[in-house]
Amino acid sequence: MQQSWLECIRGCGKRYSIYDVIYRCENCGGLLDVEHNIKALKRRTAASWKKLFDDRTRTNKWPYASGVWGKKEWVCPDIDNENVVSMYEGHTNCFWAERLGKEIGVPDLWVKLCGNSHTGSFKDLGMTVLISVVKQMIADGKPIRAVACASTGDTSAALSAYGAAAGIPTIVFLPKGKVSTAQLVQPIANGATVLSLDTDFDGCMRIVQEITADNSIYLANSMNSLRMEGQKTVGIEIIQQFDWEVPDWIVIPAGNLGNVSALGKGLLMMRDLGLIKKLPRIACAQASHANPLYLSFLNGYKEYKPVEAKKTLASAIQIGAPVSYERAVKVLRQFDGIVEQATENELANASARADRAGLFTCPQTGVALAALSKLIEHKVIKKKDRVVVISTAHGLKFSQFKVDYHEKNLSDVNSLYPNSPILLPADVNAVRKAIDHAIGK
Ligand SMILES: *Cc1c(COP(=O)(O)O)cnc(C)c1O
Ligand SMILES: [Zn+2]
Repeated sequence: MQQSWLECIRGCGKRYSIYDVIYRCENCGGLLDVEHNIKALKRRTAASWKKLFDDRTRTNKWPYASGVWGKKEWVCPDIDNENVVSMYEGHTNCFWAERLGKEIGVPDLWVKLCGNSHTGSFKDLGMTVLISVVKQMIADGKPIRAVACASTGDTSAALSAYGAAAGIPTIVFLPKGKVSTAQLVQPIANGATVLSLDTDFDGCMRIVQEITADNSIYLANSMNSLRMEGQKTVGIEIIQQFDWEVPDWIVIPAGNLGNVSALGKGLLMMRDLGLIKKLPRIACAQASHANPLYLSFLNGYKEYKPVEAKKTLASAIQIGAPVSYERAVKVLRQFDGIVEQATENELANASARADRAGLFTCPQTGVALAALSKLIEHKVIKKKDRVVVISTAHGLKFSQFKVDYHEKNLSDVNSLYPNSPILLPADVNAVRKAIDHAIGK
């Protein structure tokens, strides 16, 4: 029997092989999720799973040293190890944000630095699984010419790097002028075919779905659930980093809603296999300029309308019609979840404030931190709670955002923590005076 397969998320029962080139159920059009043979996985005790995962983090045995492939039996059990394309994903630091936490009123605050990764964002966690499966398909004789994605920047960076490492051609669809320079240059450097379309992310998504309809070009967007299998390890890893204790809250920025769905999936698997007894609550954070999930949350998910996403500094989550809406609502219901939003001014200042306590946050992480502050103010999150914020990308990918913030050049933003270089002549007395002025005598 197969240890994992694709299954319709609407519960109509239709199943496919994970090596089939298919993204939606043929019966009902629902998205497909990877499901695992839980009965077989239950043959190992919870304690024994924990020991296995802990032991692997201390070895270099291919491919298990990666944070994703260290959980291979839960992620992608049937693949040949020789077809795994890995760059040591995961094992990112869970930073104790002690100073920031005290300032904002939750001393037990941690930030999971998923951007400390090969291409600088959490997208690597999922892309290692997707590209490995494609490599296996090609090895098995499937006629796949290339892998393609629409992207707000980070997916295309991950796709092109993993594709280049595996020798698989990649095609990325980017909304023209809506990704950062760093994000644009990554697929260019990796030799991807870079298509810059005169539209937004949602427009790119529509076109890539048509281009990949003929099945010789494989679709790498997060409606493809293989990526969620890698991304779901983030929650497992957080709990492992707390010696298998469950935090009270996990706060996560959300755009296409694949990541929050994956987070929930991994945690539910831990519960089902007995590794944890309780679940954390999940808070989803959206930019107020791209907030379809927030609006739907306000009416108890009774009504859902895609929105036209407006320009936001949090460009990686500038998405108005999230593909994984259904999956995310399912997860939020099970985790007593909530959704909060942040304005441009709030996200930029939250990001800068965190940087002053030693972080270097991307604007999406700024959205999560701003939402966290609001939830503390509203007493939804309490002082004694242990909170983990998922930081989704490295701040260096968004250096222009930081430069503009500190030069007070962002529209709709009143920079509360600007810091600029002090221009001085090469003169010791002038330098001394400037230092005394800056840090006090
Ligand atoms: C992709 C991305 C997100 C959003 O993840 P979704 O799965 O689209 O909700 C958030 N932050 C960054 C930096 C990203 O690249
Ligand atoms: Zn179905």
